[in-house]
Amino acid sequence: MKGKKSKILNQKVAGLMILFLVGAAVLFVQGFRAWASEKFVLNPSVKQLPSNEEILGWIQDLCNFGYRRPGTEADHQAAQYILDKFKEFGLEKAHLEPVAMPLWTAEKWSLTVNGEDIPCFYLSHSYWIKEYEGFSAGPEGIRAEIVYVGEGREKDFRKVDVRGKIVLADVRFSQLYQSDSVGVAYFAYDPNNTAPPDWHQANPYSPNNFPSNFSRAAQHGAVGFVGILTDYFDRNTYYNELYGEEPCLWPIPGLWLSKSDGASLKELLQKDSTNQATLVLDGKIVPAEAYNVIGFLPGKTDEIIMVHSHHDAPWASAVEDASGVAEVLALAKYFGSIPADQREKTLMFVSLDTHFSMYQGHLALIKEIREKKMNVIVDIVLEHIGKEIVEKDGKLVETGFVEPRGIFVTENPYLISLVSQAVERHNLERTVLLPTYTILGVPTDAGDFNRAGFTIISLISPPLYIYDLVDTPDKVAVDQLNPVATAFADIIESIDQTPSQVVSKQAWIPRYRFQYYSAAVGYIINLMKR
Ligand SMILES: [Zn+2]
Repeated sequence: MKGKKSKILNQKVAGLMILFLVGAAVLFVQGFRAWASEKFVLNPSVKQLPSNEEILGWIQDLCNFGYRRPGTEADHQAAQYILDKFKEFGLEKAHLEPVAMPLWTAEKWSLTVNGEDIPCFYLSHSYWIKEYEGFSAGPEGIRAEIVYVGEGREKDFRKVDVRGKIVLADVRFSQLYQSDSVGVAYFAYDPNNTAPPDWHQANPYSPNNFPSNFSRAAQHGAVGFVGILTDYFDRNTYYNELYGEEPCLWPIPGLWLSKSDGASLKELLQKDSTNQATLVLDGKIVPAEAYNVIGFLPGKTDEIIMVHSHHDAPWASAVEDASGVAEVLALAKYFGSIPADQREKTLMFVSLDTHFSMYQGHLALIKEIREKKMNVIVDIVLEHIGKEIVEKDGKLVETGFVEPRGIFVTENPYLISLVSQAVERHNLERTVLLPTYTILGVPTDAGDFNRAGFTIISLISPPLYIYDLVDTPDKVAVDQLNPVATAFADIIESIDQTPSQVVSKQAWIPRYRFQYYSAAVGYIINLMKR
């Protein structure tokens, strides 16, 4: 009996192996065919997009409304401004779509340790316990002992009892290495080699031990969290993005310290055996409305090319993302001037809200597209046309280059070929074309659309200043505004002339998969060696 069973098992395994090998061979041949047959030549027509100065003017206008936090007056004014522009440029059915969201606002915050005032800034969306309620540290503030827990890893919390105390922790950012991007890229364009493989920079989007150290502090019974921005500019006005989808995630109050204030505080703590702190964070969460802005340029068919960015921001933010919205406006103005009978497909221009809330506007739009069975064949997203800025001797200085950028492109041979050519043709230097299937995912405003299965092309760059007050119009890479808009006009025009099944197809291209998996194995081996 036993022998018979294992024989059957062996046959099954052999059968499965043959199936797998045949499958792999078919995939390989199909992937290769797809690549070979759909190599694409960009339409050589020359286009007049709005000038750098005109696009910069729209960025300045958006910044002049104030802090465009979703659900606020400045955010609403920005939405109305974009709507007016859409109408001016001849878009049809231009309208606002309201979406409900909770608006978290801090009103009062401070930190005193052993009688000394420590400069600080609030950790956005912390101390959020109930959906709609005020939060307050009480009339006296929270008075408790403050203890330093290093980086706040699990082992750090095992060494010290933080129950009823305020936790002080170093917050480390992960590092972005150009070699990592190029290693998995479909294509890299850096003709002057200004972003060599060893180029690296702290990644403001994804601090590597935050928010896990914050959550750990709360779980271990701490009554407050103070994070030192160890790898940031020497500033504390870091308006962190939300990394969760629900209230209650960060139930204790949080504050940020600059790295120099953090270093001084650590010294102060060493002078005494117990250290008394008073932490204040008062504010409220109220129901509010955000507004997506949508407008159309109809073509001969109802196949839709969607072009989007987002207008909400942490501050009066120029690069994040007045720059992206201004690029969408440039494209809307250009295509709005072309008669509808010269367009095969319908163009849908969108400025989303709630990037700095919980993407309620994005999810609402995805739902609407599905419910109305709108035939969106690709989502093209533009964000962050910014200069590279570094900190030297305590000052923020320009390097003279554009911040290195990435364009996430769905695995599709036609789109990869098209976008690569547009990048090269318009000399968008320091650009890598990135796949959407890596462990990084698509950390852009296109993220929800990618997860929902849309075919995407999503331009972004990661300047360290995008969450800071210093993201002012002088940070915009002005000389790139027209070239980026023109490159994307080329991309849109070519997509318009291409059958939609070629545009929206999601392929599996063996040579890129091989490149990614071998890079991933190399990365893991390197990690193990360290
Ligand atoms: Zn953005």
